[in-house]
Amino acid sequence: MRQALDEAARAPGTGDVPVGAVVLAADGTVLGTGRNAREATGDPTAHAEVLALRAAAFRTGEWRLTGCTLVVTLEPCTMCAGALVLSRVDRVVYGARDAKAGAAGSLWDVVRDRRLNHRPEVITGVLEAECAGLLTAFFRER
Ligand SMILES: [Zn+2]
Repeated sequence: MRQALDEAARAPGTGDVPVGAVVLAADGTVLGTGRNAREATGDPTAHAEVLALRAAAFRTGEWRLTGCTLVVTLEPCTMCAGALVLSRVDRVVYGARDAKAGAAGSLWDVVRDRRLNHRPEVITGVLEAECAGLLTAFFRER
């Protein structure tokens, strides 16, 4: 989560909301990182989680990220929750909850929907205050 926070802290340089993500292999090796880059790239899908998943898939040469854990500073949205299910990660760890758009337990629970064929384990609230604080500070400045 510290590394995800470091990624998040680099996002506001481009005006992007500070969210960072890291994909870890089963042995703890970092396979991919990402931070929000919608403003920087003009890509509506350039969320931290999607970019980290793409980087990990590129590095491993596999779209299936079985055995991997994605760590992200903010609860994933519906798009990212969908991408996490499709990538077959074993575990999703997030810091701050997103009561307005969260899709991993808050507004929806896409990652644990029993109708889907893959349901990663979800761990919440890791360094929650720090993750939320970064966002609060960003929006206060705006
Ligand atoms: Zn997202």
